[in-house]
Amino acid sequence: MPPSSSSVWDVIVVGAGPAGSTAARVAAEQGCKTLLLERAAIPRYKTCGGGLIGASLAALPPGLPLKIYDTAGRFTFTHNGDRERTLDSTSPTITMVYRSELDASLAEAACAAGATLHDSTALTSVEQDGDTVTVRTNRGGTLRARAVVGADGSASRVARYVGVRCAQVDLALEAEVPVDERTAERWRGRLLMEWGPLPGSFAWVFPKGDICTAGVVAARGNPVALRAYKEDFLARHGFDKATPVHDTGHLTRCREPGSPLARGRVLVAGDAAALLDHWSREGISYALRSGDLAGQAAARLVACAAKAEAGAVTDGYGEEIDSGLGVEMRASGTLMNLFARNPGLVHTALTRVPAAWRRLDAYIAGRTSVAGIMSTPLARGATALAVRLPRARDNSPAAEAIRA
Ligand SMILES: Cc1cc2nc3c(=O)[nH]c(=O)nc-3n(C[C@H](O)[C@H](O)[C@H](O)COP(=O)(O)OP(=O)(O)OC[C@H]3O[C@@H](n4cnc5c(N)ncnc54)[C@H](O)[C@@H]3O)c2cc1C
Repeated sequence: MPPSSSSVWDVIVVGAGPAGSTAARVAAEQGCKTLLLERAAIPRYKTCGGGLIGASLAALPPGLPLKIYDTAGRFTFTHNGDRERTLDSTSPTITMVYRSELDASLAEAACAAGATLHDSTALTSVEQDGDTVTVRTNRGGTLRARAVVGADGSASRVARYVGVRCAQVDLALEAEVPVDERTAERWRGRLLMEWGPLPGSFAWVFPKGDICTAGVVAARGNPVALRAYKEDFLARHGFDKATPVHDTGHLTRCREPGSPLARGRVLVAGDAAALLDHWSREGISYALRSGDLAGQAAARLVACAAKAEAGAVTDGYGEEIDSGLGVEMRASGTLMNLFARNPGLVHTALTRVPAAWRRLDAYIAGRTSVAGIMSTPLARGATALAVRLPRARDNSPAAEAIRA
């Protein structure tokens, strides 16, 4: 049913990914009359590895129904396919799900809390007049609200309205490939990370029973080389034999420090706010945590009549993001600089220095943060060393092929 043009809502949330459904659930729990708009029909496909780290699991609503396809307890690391090393996790945490299922479950939780969902409905424009935000949709509706949360992903229209600026934009290419029983057994409980030949790039294999998700990510701007890397990676692991169930690409974005998180009564969260780990490009935990904060801030905005009062609420939202996820992003930015300069050094540290792996393992399990890792003497020493060393030249056949 198309949203009625006469509707006036407390909160409209745009996008029913992890950020949007969380914001809608939290706003509804605060007693707000909340509308969740989603462009696609739910359940919808989303290009994503679907790996949940400890921080993501901790941010899910308690008791959320979720089908788990595997839990990785072993991690294979390689540098351009060489120097392979498999390490065990002390507490297997990283949980493999399908995003269509996770996101449908989160949208259902928002509805159970009292939010109204309109899927197959896209925002086409947003504007503000006084204390009212007007949203237009592709179904001809004109909707009004006291607050709007833009959680419409990495190509967000709401982010353009708010003026979000990015420091890092990457392209990720991913295939979901059906595998036979023997291959499934080889990958069960094990995840692969390969540090790749393009600056700041990596490739991964995530196991999901009879499907493996395999992909590559690197800075946007060299799609031919990235596609070549993906094909080479899939072929090396025998994933080029079957027809993928999905074979897609998607941008990932990391915000510039100080970039706006709100304009008037319009907030942004998740990928729309370009909240993402610079190094791992992990974004689900960022989406869940910022969605929660945005839902609370939107509920506070509903109660504000005066402009100054509303400004204090949105400033408060910016401060909450900056003092939590912002700290994480700055730490992951430092790690990304170190990695892009010298991936071999990062590989050696992770696979040969037990303390480095223990730290990363603790981060995956949710026992520490990226900022916690980067504040250790080991990470500080590696960062100082990497700056003094010349930028590593990658002489692998894949890197030579790309340079040619
Ligand atoms: C290849 C790849 C692999 C990844 N793997 C992982 C991983 O394993 N683990 C991890 O933590 N992170 C991963 N990420 C990052 C993660 O996918 C994102 O950070 C996460 O999806 C962000 O959630 P979100 O709710 O902000 O946005 P999204 O999940 O993108 O949701 C946005 C929603 O808004 C809707 N929408 C868009 N425009 C409109 C509109 N105009 N009107 C209404 N609705 C609209 C979209 O249809 C979508 O449903 C990966 C990313 C990529 C590209």
